[in-house]
Amino acid sequence: MGEDVRAYAESQRSTFERFLRELVEIPTVSADPARKGDMQRCAETAAELIRSLGGQASIWPTSGNPIVFGRFERGPDYPGLAFYNHLDVQPADEPEWKSDPFRLRVEDGRYIGRGATDDKGPAVACLLAAKYAYDRGLPLNFYFIWELEEEIGSPHFEEGLQAHRSEVRVRSVFVSDSIWISRDRPSVDYGLRGLQGATLYLRTAEVDAHSGVTGGAAPNPIAELCRILMACFDPGTGEVKIPHFYDDVVPPTEEELDNFVQSGFDVERFRKTYGFRWLRTEDLRELLKRIWAWPTFEVHGIAGGYQGPGIKTIIPHWAEAKVSMRLVPNQVPEKVFQLLADYVRQLNPLVEVRSHGSLAPYVGEFKGPHADALRRAVRRAFGIEPAFIREGGSIGAVLTMKKLLDVPILMMGLSLPEHGYHAPNEYFDWDQARRGIEVFNYYFEELAQLYRG
Ligand SMILES: [Zn+2]
Repeated sequence: MGEDVRAYAESQRSTFERFLRELVEIPTVSADPARKGDMQRCAETAAELIRSLGGQASIWPTSGNPIVFGRFERGPDYPGLAFYNHLDVQPADEPEWKSDPFRLRVEDGRYIGRGATDDKGPAVACLLAAKYAYDRGLPLNFYFIWELEEEIGSPHFEEGLQAHRSEVRVRSVFVSDSIWISRDRPSVDYGLRGLQGATLYLRTAEVDAHSGVTGGAAPNPIAELCRILMACFDPGTGEVKIPHFYDDVVPPTEEELDNFVQSGFDVERFRKTYGFRWLRTEDLRELLKRIWAWPTFEVHGIAGGYQGPGIKTIIPHWAEAKVSMRLVPNQVPEKVFQLLADYVRQLNPLVEVRSHGSLAPYVGEFKGPHADALRRAVRRAFGIEPAFIREGGSIGAVLTMKKLLDVPILMMGLSLPEHGYHAPNEYFDWDQARRGIEVFNYYFEELAQLYRG
């Protein structure tokens, strides 16, 4: 059986490439309202691809972008598995792109283009894997839920899924939208951090003033926001100083931290991948806790004052800080936002604090029958154990699926750190696609056994 799966995966290279090209060449930048038409076009193209393999596909409209729903159904009495992937992408306006980000460039088994690894490539790999399992008669129904708003926080996903949840008859969900530790260490993610964004806006005058005439007496809004930010967190350690911020945090268990440490994560490789000149900690256990299972406060930008060449000796009259907090179980975004707003008000009541999007944290299981099934599949495909880790980012749709479908959600991506998630010259590679098609098929075999029992 293993031989056949491997041979099938190998035989799908041209199909994979053709499908990926069709999807990458539609610029589905969800953050850009001008791409609205491309969203619909991508949904229709994706539905056609599913149909071309013999599946059924429909498009769920929402008040935002549509959701593609695909099916390979054996019959109403068979257990079902749903795949979640997203077909929208990050903007691609970085000057570092070496070629048009919306033309798929193929180079030595690499597929270069925006969305190739996040998440169009993995979506196509999941589709081709399921198609094979279906054709060879595995007793499972396969469903595909392909979203087009993931990169903007899935604002209409719940609306779309809510309206069609009865069509998604599943025993579990599989999400392929995350990154391995390294090429030789597959990772299964069972947790996501939540997110609460905010802006801090301060206006101190009606117009900019001369720093020679007023400096020394005039309030400075940029400096005042910096003072407030420094009161919110310690930039040396990252420790958050907002009162009661950590009250609801459930720390990771020692067993989880042991798993993190054994994942093969390398501190120096991490530092180099991102080009950081230093890290807030170089201790492996502490670093992994901080990026996967501990909350943060970060500053993303400060606006205000003079930004042109040289200097201009003004006292600015307004400033804005853009911040966010990554959250872990059992922190509640709304509550955390209130803690921030109350604290800032106490520090300076003139600062306006506005909420900018929030997502709750999520933690699933790293033990149990589904995790074991995936562990066995990975061992069979690659001869090694997958690392069971949490992911520092957020996928809003996971929370929605947990709420509406209420089944186990397993997360295993196919992307590698070097693929450049959200970065210029993003790419995916055939090796990962092929290995994905293979390991997913072993996982389906495990599930078929599990659901029969
Ligand atoms: Zn993604």
